[in-house]
Amino acid sequence: METGKARYNEYSAYLKKKYGEKIYKLPVNLPGTCPNRDGTVGEGGCIFCDEEGSGFECLPNSMDVTNQIKENKAFFQKRFKGKKYFAYFQAFTNTYRDLESFKESIAAAVRDEDIIGLSISTRPDCINDTYLDFLADLQAEKGLVINIELGLQTVNYHTLKKINRGHTLGEYIDAVLRIKQRRFEIVTHLILNLPWDDQTDVIECAKVCSALGVDFVKLHSLYVVKDTVLGEMFARGEFDIISLEEYIDRVVVFLEYLDPAVVIQRLVGKGPQGNLHFCNWSTSWWKIKQRIEEVLTERDTWQGKKFNYTNGAAVKKWVE
Ligand code: SF4
Repeated sequence: METGKARYNEYSAYLKKKYGEKIYKLPVNLPGTCPNRDGTVGEGGCIFCDEEGSGFECLPNSMDVTNQIKENKAFFQKRFKGKKYFAYFQAFTNTYRDLESFKESIAAAVRDEDIIGLSISTRPDCINDTYLDFLADLQAEKGLVINIELGLQTVNYHTLKKINRGHTLGEYIDAVLRIKQRRFEIVTHLILNLPWDDQTDVIECAKVCSALGVDFVKLHSLYVVKDTVLGEMFARGEFDIISLEEYIDRVVVFLEYLDPAVVIQRLVGKGPQGNLHFCNWSTSWWKIKQRIEEVLTERDTWQGKKFNYTNGAAVKKWVE
């Protein structure tokens, strides 16, 4: 590879290039639930989900959106001298609410003139044309960047069933195609060490994200919260978690197969605090990130090294 070139497409470098300055995400916590918890598509939720709905860094959802934006913005202004922000609807399933209340929450967030974009976390089965059209109108009116975060976790639909996701790969593909039609950005969350997946699944995750033109990925390692279904399974010894070395190997292989244009927002998640059976091999996330970067160098490999399977790879010998 070229000297001085980064071995993977890192988010901070992407942001700097695109916006010329650091952009901060202001978490917005809406009261809500998830169709996989309230019985609409499932009950109990994903087996790893705790009651916080994966929004553990948020202000309480009893605060209104305007005040959450105000308070979080003041914090980022004071601590980091932030100037431009995305409103980040992070916890639970933010498009799983009636259309009017969805519109109201979004409108309250974009009223602040320093908000230049929206990042909305949701599930693939909560992506609907009517909601997307509202966002497209808002984007046209205000020139906002719209970014939709989809939890997928794995492309292995047998594992999706095992972790009780309540949707399969099909719904994810449908959601991505609808979001792409509006030219919004797409982030996909993946867990690379689900106990029922192996490296073949990890490679397929990279291939599917690349083929669909996903813009960003966030990689996570599985954390096990006590008092969840997964936590109980862990306590009963029903599954093993791969070693940190194997996780690092999976991330490196994932990167090799991933389109080099995809931006990596995270190589490993931070995980919640407390009440845990397991999180990141009791190692800080930045040490794991550092080790992944070292392994990329040691193996002299990089994101996209094996991205050679699209556009009819078998016939390329006659057209290139
Ligand atoms: S989709 Fe998210 S909020 Fe819903 S059950 Fe799964 S992890 Fe929890």
